[in-house]
Amino acid sequence: MSNKETKTDVILIGAGIMSATLGTILKELVPEWKIKMFEKLENAGEESSNEWNNAGTGHAALCELNYTSEKTDGSIDISKAIKINEQFQVSMQFWSYLINRNLISNPQDFIMPLPHMSMVQGEENVTFLKKRFEALSENPLFQGMEFSNEPKKLKEWIPLIMEGRTSNEPIAATKIDSGTDVNFGALTRMLFDHLKNQDVEIKYKHQVEDIKRTEDGLWELKIWNKETGNIERHTAKFVFIGGGGGSLHLLQKTGIPESKHIGGFPVSGIFLSCNNPEVVKQHHAKVYGKAKVGAPPMSVPHLDTRYIDNQKSLLFGPFAGFSPKFLKTGSNMDLITSVKPNNVLTMLAAGAKEMSLTKYLIQQVMLSKEQRMEELREFIPNAKSEDWDLVVAGQRVQVIKDTVEGGKGTLQFGTEVISAADGSIAALLGASPGASTAVHVMLEVIKKCFPQHIEEWEWKIKKMIPSYGESLMENPELLREIHTSTAEALGLKEKELAYS
Ligand SMILES: Cc1cc2nc3c(=O)[nH]c(=O)nc-3n(C[C@H](O)[C@H](O)[C@H](O)COP(=O)(O)OP(=O)(O)OC[C@H]3O[C@@H](n4cnc5c(N)ncnc54)[C@H](O)[C@@H]3O)c2cc1C
Repeated sequence: MSNKETKTDVILIGAGIMSATLGTILKELVPEWKIKMFEKLENAGEESSNEWNNAGTGHAALCELNYTSEKTDGSIDISKAIKINEQFQVSMQFWSYLINRNLISNPQDFIMPLPHMSMVQGEENVTFLKKRFEALSENPLFQGMEFSNEPKKLKEWIPLIMEGRTSNEPIAATKIDSGTDVNFGALTRMLFDHLKNQDVEIKYKHQVEDIKRTEDGLWELKIWNKETGNIERHTAKFVFIGGGGGSLHLLQKTGIPESKHIGGFPVSGIFLSCNNPEVVKQHHAKVYGKAKVGAPPMSVPHLDTRYIDNQKSLLFGPFAGFSPKFLKTGSNMDLITSVKPNNVLTMLAAGAKEMSLTKYLIQQVMLSKEQRMEELREFIPNAKSEDWDLVVAGQRVQVIKDTVEGGKGTLQFGTEVISAADGSIAALLGASPGASTAVHVMLEVIKKCFPQHIEEWEWKIKKMIPSYGESLMENPELLREIHTSTAEALGLKEKELAYS
């Protein structure tokens, strides 16, 4: 059965953090617009945005070594770290705005303060970390960062990691207390609850099957209502494809020229998780190490304290792996069906270029739990297998495209907003830095797709995000104000005391 529905202003596809964020911003900017959201699963935040499917790091470049690279002259390039930190401040301001307006509540249910640390071993890595620390700590965005290569200090900071360590290899770490653990699943659910109160039509168990342009320039979506088995058709002036790993297939269905010559490379993830309170209480930080040679940047090993459902646990990983699925709940045919005549050469070129990465990922998939425990023991020498369980994480579909620098079939590790020239449809591809920068990325979607409104909306955006359009690094006074006001609104200072 098929039934025609009335048209709407905006359709959001997928109930992840990206659609939740875009819907919330648009409702603040133009409350009168009609918005509908379709999600194929039963609830919001069930795929990558779910708390158990990602690492929950509020990525502000405080600890991720892959955001700072060493230049040929030996100096450290911190430009990417600055960009990501500024983008995270945008998220913090928007979340604070929502709390201050009572649009969402109980910030402790989605954000907790947690020191962010980088830890390295070996002479060369220690020298790199020291130089990185010197470059970052001079910058106002990274104020408060400390460095130590003193075992006594490190024992204070990371007792679980230092205990039982017999190697004489030099070891060093940096620590900054203004880091966070973010429960993106809880935040996504809160935002959809809020959107429901704002009359956004939210439909779960509705899978978008096709997207076509109508003669009058609208977009018509063919949607399978999984509960009734009916096919529905809904039209909108603007569509956001926030299907996470499912976005590429949907983008390809639009047929827009911008969707061509793009492919996806899925990377799966596995964490080790520990709930033994005796072990959990000995660690209080997110500690990021260095990626192994040949490993993709998103598989940098880290040992994290997590706050999920008011409980502390530890998470280690992610171990990257290969699976042809584009979503955790996806199909083994996802990769193959994403190959189209227009992207087959791009995909083949990437296949040839990324042979060693694919081999690495396949090897990683084959690792036994005990082999994964051995990797964990590089962090926690005394880790016991019985304290740790394997948890399957979300899928990350990296973008493959042809670039001037990398040539045909170049693997990208960032996020990409792909939109039609007329701004009537946009899709988000890629997964890094991910949920942490959702607000910045959704503002990019708004800028690209609603250029005619940006001027009139600017004052409203500034109300939500006081630093909008400004560089915080170059405005230390505003940075200080924002640090203070966001910590207060999100209750980060109080919680720090409560948990210490
Ligand atoms: C292992 C791992 C670790 C990560 N760690 C971090 C981290 O520490 N910090 C961080 O900031 N980010 C992290 N990320 C990235 C972050 O999780 C993602 O960037 C973010 O959750 C993506 O949100 P999304 O809304 O785009 O997608 P998702 O949360 O995946 O949501 C997409 C939704 O669309 C639905 N959907 C798909 N196709 C259809 C369709 N045809 N019809 C209807 N619905 C559809 C899906 O069911 C899903 O619910 C990590 C990701 C992974 C996998």
